[in-house]
Amino acid sequence: MIESLGYAAQSADAPLGPFKFQRHAPDEHGVQIAIAYCGVCHSDLHTARNEWKGTRYPVVPGHEIVGHVTAVGSAVTRFKVGQAVGVGCMVESCQECGSCADGLEQYCENGFVGTYNGTSRKTGATTMGGYSNLIVVDEAFVLSIPDSSQLAAVAPLLCAGITTYSPLREWKVGPGHKVGIVGLGGLGHMGVKIAHAMGAQVVLFTTSPGKADDARRLGADQVVISKDPEQMARHRNSFDFILNTVAASHPLDPFVELLKRDGTMTLVGVPEVNHPSPQVGNLIFKRRRLAGSLIGGIKETQEMLDFCAEHGIVSDIELIAIDQINHAYERMLKSDVKYRFVIDIGTLRD
Ligand code: NAP
Ligand code: ZN
Repeated sequence: MIESLGYAAQSADAPLGPFKFQRHAPDEHGVQIAIAYCGVCHSDLHTARNEWKGTRYPVVPGHEIVGHVTAVGSAVTRFKVGQAVGVGCMVESCQECGSCADGLEQYCENGFVGTYNGTSRKTGATTMGGYSNLIVVDEAFVLSIPDSSQLAAVAPLLCAGITTYSPLREWKVGPGHKVGIVGLGGLGHMGVKIAHAMGAQVVLFTTSPGKADDARRLGADQVVISKDPEQMARHRNSFDFILNTVAASHPLDPFVELLKRDGTMTLVGVPEVNHPSPQVGNLIFKRRRLAGSLIGGIKETQEMLDFCAEHGIVSDIELIAIDQINHAYERMLKSDVKYRFVIDIGTLRD
């Protein structure tokens, strides 16, 4: 076992604080990683505060992990000590079902093991995430970082990047498409950058008028204040695809009405309370579709990292010391992040 140090929530209403725990040393397929930076996803907050139920305490959140390899098991071939690597939301899956065979481990029919708050199939231990000094992960779930020159800003690609890249690819977004991104937070700002790089016409929907200039800088062609019905009405029946990243329950009809015939809105935000159902007629009369999407597979995550390196895309981050995490959560709840907090794990001390 390896002595590890992290930051944990001990209950739904307790602030996160320092926490010592044990990790299993790498087996023959294991890669041990000294964590340098970890992004702060809204899912970390949902989990730390038990908003989705099922949180097992203490929980060490964090699934946007980047760092350097410090040890590898005897059978590991793809990674070497010293290499810059990443770990996202998953650390194991069954590797036997149809979804795993298709490279879609996130839809593993026997359930993937999350980077935190999961139960390892190999060891039976509760998984602990990236708000910590090190992690040990099977090489099948470790990603290569093609360009580590801005390592801290690469961390959010491991969840926010792949969660937006995967549906944009699945719905074949590209030149000639009018694409909406709803919400300019961690996911949304990556969605804007990636959809723009894919060649689409990008419209950003925000509830925060103060983010409009940033949205244009990040790659949005237009910005719509979603609370303004007149601005919304100008875009009726015009979108091929809308990606909704909002972390809170809200009416979907104002966005569904903006889709053209056969257009799709894909939900990736997972609010504590469900969205009210949209009007059925709003879907039926234009054969519109409402869909969902979960992160992305490991192969696709590597493809996304390579795509981002090729297009010079990283996240816009605010680097924080780990003892600022509770304050960062409060700011995230006020939509006051530009546009992803990333923890400098070097600030983690005994
Ligand atoms: P975030 O950084 O907090 O961004 C969410 C954005 O939603 C905010 O910046 C805000 O944008 C908008 N928003 C917040 N409250 C709102 C409200 N009441 N009404 C309308 N808009 C509101 O969160 P994130 O890390 O991007 O995560 C977004 C959601 O995706 C979370 O629920 C998270 O758990 C989920 N998630 C899902 C997956 C998946 O695989 N499906 C993966 C990762 C995360 P504006 O200020 O621009 O309005
Ligand atoms: Zn996440």
